[in-house]
Amino acid sequence: MPIVLLAITAACLAALWWHVRAQKIALQGGLKSEQRQTLALRKSLELLSEGVVLIGHRKQVLYANPAAASLLDAEPVLEPSEIMFSSFTRHQVLLGLVKRASSEETLRQSLEFGQDDEQPRSVEVTLAPLGGGGRLVILQDIRVGALVDKRRRDFVANASHELKTPIAAILGMLDLADVVEDDKRSELLDRARKNAVSLANMTDDLLRLARADDPDWKPAPSLLDLDGVLQEVIDNLQERANEKGLTLHLSTDPACGELIADRFSLFTVVQNLVLNAVIYTRQGSIQVRSFSPSQGVIAISVQDSGPGIDPDTLPHIFERFFRGDVAHSRASGGTGLGLAIVRNLLRRMGGRISVRSEPGVGSEFIVELPTNPTRALPAG
Ligand code: ADP
Repeated sequence: MPIVLLAITAACLAALWWHVRAQKIALQGGLKSEQRQTLALRKSLELLSEGVVLIGHRKQVLYANPAAASLLDAEPVLEPSEIMFSSFTRHQVLLGLVKRASSEETLRQSLEFGQDDEQPRSVEVTLAPLGGGGRLVILQDIRVGALVDKRRRDFVANASHELKTPIAAILGMLDLADVVEDDKRSELLDRARKNAVSLANMTDDLLRLARADDPDWKPAPSLLDLDGVLQEVIDNLQERANEKGLTLHLSTDPACGELIADRFSLFTVVQNLVLNAVIYTRQGSIQVRSFSPSQGVIAISVQDSGPGIDPDTLPHIFERFFRGDVAHSRASGGTGLGLAIVRNLLRRMGGRISVRSEPGVGSEFIVELPTNPTRALPAG
């Protein structure tokens, strides 16, 4: 990451330079704008996710930002100190590296931190000369990057597998349709059609998820009639609920009639939740209700009398491709992506979701949205 390192280095050097300069200026009772720049640079270093340590020529710690302190299990050093680097951290391999490194060369090495932990961290350490015998140490937690790569690989593998299943079924059925007797052919084509619908559901959901993840995509909030959106979802799913003998109830709170939100995203969120309630409930009813839990917040509850969700399963239901019951989910046209899309869309809309569920009794999903989309709610 040479550009990042270059930027950090420049920021460190500038911070040091400005620190000395700001002290001079302060002594002279001087220029406030220079001091503001110093403060801004120091703040940037404090907020960096990379650890930065500046070591003086006597190996005293001149500066250690909070990220470095957290990686090295130490306290941040925000003003030049007399604390020796060997007392600042007990990380023997890093201490050895700093001791051995020549004060003229730049050295880069990956080290394992926290080996006693269950999850050791892989940290890339860069040591660079700071002039006058000093050292700059940059620590970058590469576990985060590795995790992102792994998630991406898992996602591609899961998506390929999910797409392959209906494609293989369709191909198999079409091959058979060529050789079976006429009366069996229409049944095979019907099954092939169902698999094509699953394929279409999966590609639609993958596209929705990609959009909800895309940093360039932004929700387009407008003034909405919430009751209208909820009624549209109910109308859409009424037939499917009737087929299973389920009743769908809607009760709206007049105080929550209007809301500023992205209409398509809100519709997708509520539709996915009510569809799940219809899919997983065998008998009884599904209640959809709006209410205002607090000032500036509008909530939508989707409550069913379904089988409920096992407490061991509950923490996983918002994960991509997670399905509690794979066969039931597939047979109902589920993709295992519905709740991941709901959660991502809500995040992008400044909202959040919570769930209460009791096996054998039912589940309640509660969506909360700020009435003003620029005031995101804290994550639930
Ligand atoms: P799927 O396409 O499988 O429904 P979702 O992401 O929408 O994928 O849901 C993930 C899992 O959460 C489901 O497979 C199911 O096990 C569980 N689930 C979601 N909603 C409900 C509900 N209302 N009642 C019971 N289980 C549910």
